[in-house]
Amino acid sequence: MSQEIPYKIYLSEDEIPTQWYNLRADMKKKPAPLLNPATLKPLTAEELSVVFCKELVEQELDENTPFIDIPKEIRDFYKMYRPSPVVRAYCLEKYLDTPAEIYYKFEGNNTSGSHKLNSAIAQAYYAKKQGLKGVTTETGAGQWGTALSMASAYLGLDCKVYMVKCSYEQKPFRREVMRTYGATVTPSPSNTTEIGRKILAEFPGTTGSLGCAISEAVEVATSTEGYRYVLGSVLNQVLLHQSVIGLEAKAALDKYGIKPDMIIGCAGGGSNLGGLIAPFMREKLRGENDYRIIAVEPASCPSFTRGKYAYDFCDTGKICPLAKMYTLGSGFIPSASHAGGLRFHGMCPTLSELYDQGMMEAVAVEQTSVFEAATMFARVEGLLPAPESSHAIRVAIDEALKCKQTGEKKKILFGLTGTGYFDLVAYQKYNDGEMGDYIPTDEDIQKGWASMPKVDL
Ligand SMILES: *Cc1c(COP(=O)(O)O)cnc(C)c1O
Repeated sequence: MSQEIPYKIYLSEDEIPTQWYNLRADMKKKPAPLLNPATLKPLTAEELSVVFCKELVEQELDENTPFIDIPKEIRDFYKMYRPSPVVRAYCLEKYLDTPAEIYYKFEGNNTSGSHKLNSAIAQAYYAKKQGLKGVTTETGAGQWGTALSMASAYLGLDCKVYMVKCSYEQKPFRREVMRTYGATVTPSPSNTTEIGRKILAEFPGTTGSLGCAISEAVEVATSTEGYRYVLGSVLNQVLLHQSVIGLEAKAALDKYGIKPDMIIGCAGGGSNLGGLIAPFMREKLRGENDYRIIAVEPASCPSFTRGKYAYDFCDTGKICPLAKMYTLGSGFIPSASHAGGLRFHGMCPTLSELYDQGMMEAVAVEQTSVFEAATMFARVEGLLPAPESSHAIRVAIDEALKCKQTGEKKKILFGLTGTGYFDLVAYQKYNDGEMGDYIPTDEDIQKGWASMPKVDL
């Protein structure tokens, strides 16, 4: 096509997808089911309904329906900040002097500052529809908690957030945004739960972890009348909601006849990447088209590249279902990295299965090289990216530089999941030359594996 490609490809409001796409429907070998940690049997809808609300349980277990309607109320909320643009990174291409074409899907243009709002509003909506009073959750870096607070405020739901203690202390502004939206924010571990008290007694000085905050939030949800727990990543339902990212991206690129050669995304629990690649992976699974798909993870928490594909606990308290995933073990404690949203020890079961089948690749990158890419991107493209998102920027730049050497005009699409305004302490460390690259030793990883279930599943 000779049509000039604009800097930003926008869709119109009525081009917001009306259905989410469920990637599992097109997988011949499905992701392994969640297991009950006590019986080691696949979890039933009834068991899951104690923790999650009903319609979300149906979505979680549905591996056959390819397209699921997005309720009108959710689409109306999406209209406040969607469709999000696909941006042609002309300035970055020029700066790198590469023949590659670089595109990114920008999910940072809402107050929560990330893609997480796409699933937060869906989960809050189904909770409200079920007549619940409120929801509980955990947050590490704070993006998910912020997104859920916004969605809960919009729908008039109570929202209790367990925030990993070190983030609670280091990111007071995130905490205040959540409180402004009406959420109760408790530093985790706390003495408000049994599991929190147990962890505090065992490790008095602990600054918390995501796995521990999950245990607390689940305990509160299951022991409080009218409450359910919601999770911002990892689960199939979250990938389903996030497919709105990929569906929009594909629709925008199709308008100009652009077919990406490779699709790159950062991977924490895998939700933005799973969402971005959804319609492309659909074509790949159906043998209609081929794409290179690359997950980028931090070298400090390398679940894909150094993890095991096995059943593992999702939380420190070991009360959540067992999931088969690429994992470093629930007892793995990642070093204090500045990409808090990428610090989960496992990877969502759907992407784990696709990775195991060889349908996608993964690379691990070091923190300082990520901030180098983030800084370059901010200076030439204008946007201040989130540290998590900058993992994808790093690899997009590396691939564009390879094209410079080979002269190939590859088309690169990556997910820019959010903005970095709440991560300025991390930028400060980088600017002051005080940022390190911690990579776990094989021994550290062995230690994490030692915490995995002792059964052969
Ligand atoms: C949470 C988060 C991520 C990582 O989560 P996924 O579930 O892997 O997408 C990436 N980027 C930002 C900005 C986040 O907030």
